[in-house]
Amino acid sequence: MSGHLRELIVDLDAIAANTQVLATRSGSAGVMAVVKADAYGHGLVPSAQAAMAGGAQWLGVALLDEALELRAGGVEDPVLAWLVGPGEPWVEALTRGIDLSVSDVWVLDEIATAAREVGRVARVHLKVDSGLGRSGAPVGDWPTLVDAARKAELDGIVVVVGVWSHLAYADAPGHPTIDRQLEVFREALDVAERAGVQPEVRHLANSAATLTRPDTHFDLTRPGLAVYGLSPLRDAPPAALGLLPAMSLQARMALVKRVPAGHGVSYMHRYVTNRETTLGLVPLGYADGVPRDATNVGPVQVGGRRRTIAGVVCMDQFVVDLGDDPVSVGDLVWLFGPGDSGEPTAQDWADATGTISYEIVTRMGPRIRRRYVGGPAS
Ligand SMILES: *Cc1c(COP(=O)(O)O)cnc(C)c1O
Repeated sequence: MSGHLRELIVDLDAIAANTQVLATRSGSAGVMAVVKADAYGHGLVPSAQAAMAGGAQWLGVALLDEALELRAGGVEDPVLAWLVGPGEPWVEALTRGIDLSVSDVWVLDEIATAAREVGRVARVHLKVDSGLGRSGAPVGDWPTLVDAARKAELDGIVVVVGVWSHLAYADAPGHPTIDRQLEVFREALDVAERAGVQPEVRHLANSAATLTRPDTHFDLTRPGLAVYGLSPLRDAPPAALGLLPAMSLQARMALVKRVPAGHGVSYMHRYVTNRETTLGLVPLGYADGVPRDATNVGPVQVGGRRRTIAGVVCMDQFVVDLGDDPVSVGDLVWLFGPGDSGEPTAQDWADATGTISYEIVTRMGPRIRRRYVGGPAS
């Protein structure tokens, strides 16, 4: 890391290379790189540009605000926003050329009103709930939604660019719900086709399905986590999939001191030294996204050695028991990284704290300085 006390390092070349791997795995289907939630904490615009450089043709986000932020950042590639609500700035979305997901007729109506107002054809992706039970039109309402969209299409107000859905159990490749959801999705596509809707792209697969279920690829895959080099599959580490984790979290030791045996460490003394030892103070805390659940279990690498957090993770800092290691103030503390230099990974942090790697990377706070390495400039 550079001279800063705490740094989140994002390897843009890794994001591009991971996207390339996913593009290959997608076969004849294109790739929509999912860059919601600040590109899973990696930084929206630089990550989106790296994914496009790696061969993605589309970008996917949850919120319309995220799509507008891409446009404000100069990213003009096709982008779909799928978590929309009533009263969105539809006019701005249409003038910025953002594709919008539609799960219900009221959304279509609001978009159509805006499209008439600005004299633009709205690009929509109709979403069916094939079984996840989250967004998407229920199967029973699908024909009505399709008919309304087709009518708006014939009126020259919208164009149905996509028909899509999302899987519940993609990380369990043999799970029976995948076959069932595929069946429902195909039926929904038939209903759309019979109504005269001819989408340019049909899409269903997230990272796990992109990597394990080619029968879910259709015209476009929609990987998120794997773009950032993390594995959605329990028994396949990133390297086994040809992926490289793009995010590293590092800090510099802010204070090092010798203490006697029996010394309580951090609030509530949840850790007590069992002999004379060296304690190191790491300047990262739960306000930065280090889980408080990492108390006494979070792994770090210091001086080439694995150590575990000693005591409670505080708002801005935590402590590591370094034994007799010759560690000095300013030495590097590596919380997680690609894992190829013996440092812990985001997956290790997820395992230690009972969550998923998605949550570890997306929770990294804005207070940590981001540094990008690689990318078009390098
Ligand atoms: C987040 C998300 C994805 C990407 O999922 P990963 O498991 O990260 O690949 C794809 N589609 C939708 C609708 C999502 O919300």
